[in-house]
Amino acid sequence: MKVIAIGRNYAAHVKELNNPLPSSPVIFMKPDTAVLKDNKPFYIPDFSSDIHYELEVVLKVCKEGKHIAEKFAANYFDEVGLGIDFTARDIQTIHKEKGLPWELAKSFDNSAAISRFIPKDQIADLNNLEFELKINNETRQLGNTKNILFSFEKIIAFVSQYITLKKGDLIFTGTPEGVGQVHQGDKLEAWLADEQFLNFDIK
Ligand code: MG
Repeated sequence: MKVIAIGRNYAAHVKELNNPLPSSPVIFMKPDTAVLKDNKPFYIPDFSSDIHYELEVVLKVCKEGKHIAEKFAANYFDEVGLGIDFTARDIQTIHKEKGLPWELAKSFDNSAAISRFIPKDQIADLNNLEFELKINNETRQLGNTKNILFSFEKIIAFVSQYITLKKGDLIFTGTPEGVGQVHQGDKLEAWLADEQFLNFDIK
């Protein structure tokens, strides 16, 4: 499986990092070794002194597809969960300045923490879905999918022009504003609608 992630998909977050609004989705990938499951702790790696959390809604792909039309894109994911796109912001900033790829900042081991997944038909409205991250019991990110720049369907249609989607692939759909640094000893908890999906420690 692979992890496809969308950058700059919530305008307020684009602004907080002083990036331009994208005219098409910004895509990067994480390898399967990036996946961190079952609320296992995240260990801060020693190559970065500025690891950021980014809470995101994550889609699970349910069948193989290429060149998927936007109007059929919803048929290609059947489950939804939450994830943290851990980012070495210090490395990313240097690589952005130099015009270099982001892999070292985005694709390292355990950089894609994921929750359990639920069938998407259990969600009342995918286009008006609240999600929240608390760190040490304080709200840091409060997002709603209604503020997304590129819809889930647009993302799937766009990505599948270039990359074949396969069953089990995960799509991180972008983070809202409020990103920031994690520290040793932090407790991360995240909710999708009113249900807790993530609850793990930073070590
Ligand atoms: Mg992200």
